[in-house]
Amino acid sequence: MMNTPLPVIDAHVHCGILDRSSPQSFEVYARQAAATDIGGVAIFSPVMEIYDRYDPSFVDTPAWRRRRMQSNAYLLSLKPVGHTVYPYFFIWNDFAVDQLSAAHCGIKWHRHADEPVYRYHDPRCRSALDEIRRRGLPVVLEEEFDHTVRFIRELADGIRVIIPHLGMLNGGFRSIAEAGLWAQENVWADTALADRSEIREYLSVYGHRRLLFGSDFPFGDPNSELRKVHSLQLDPAKLAAVLGGNFIRLQSRIDRS
Ligand SMILES: [Zn+2]
Repeated sequence: MMNTPLPVIDAHVHCGILDRSSPQSFEVYARQAAATDIGGVAIFSPVMEIYDRYDPSFVDTPAWRRRRMQSNAYLLSLKPVGHTVYPYFFIWNDFAVDQLSAAHCGIKWHRHADEPVYRYHDPRCRSALDEIRRRGLPVVLEEEFDHTVRFIRELADGIRVIIPHLGMLNGGFRSIAEAGLWAQENVWADTALADRSEIREYLSVYGHRRLLFGSDFPFGDPNSELRKVHSLQLDPAKLAAVLGGNFIRLQSRIDRS
């Protein structure tokens, strides 16, 4: 594997210890990534620690609110030797931005078509976005296509939005391109589970400044996801940007006051 001047940062990792559906503690990730030069990890809670994704009419309860707080506390507690952890706050319909701390490095906003919906019309949604904007936190947005478009066009002015998997679960790379979203200065992407041809096309049309390497652990394997990016044989400056430089730039604009 080629050496890069910056530590490699995996910008898309799910870790938790409450959802036991698959082994996804940070220790499991660290073992899988041990053979790589990954030195930084942006970590989100597993979906099943935030809401019941299998119940479209899911009603929030105090028990789920406690579960979210525990999940968030776990991410904030991670201080592993050998990795820098960048904890992201997984936001849900209570829009609990009062739980954000200076240690948070981003927001995870996630739902699939058959899952309970975000209350975009709740006034708390707007105030949460105002707080996210004020802090300069990037938002990893995985949502249905229509919601993605509306979120970026109507709600995310002044907020940097990362569309994961090059759009695979947001309506697809092509649809996002046709809606003109990739071209927007505030729209970023990650490489997790995206195919090589789409990564190449993205880089040739939109450049390398807003693309982040990510693995989507535990769904993706950090080794093979990293090998995939190396196999594109990008020139060293572009490779270094995608593998970590862009992430550092993304983080540098956060207001931690
Ligand atoms: Zn993911």
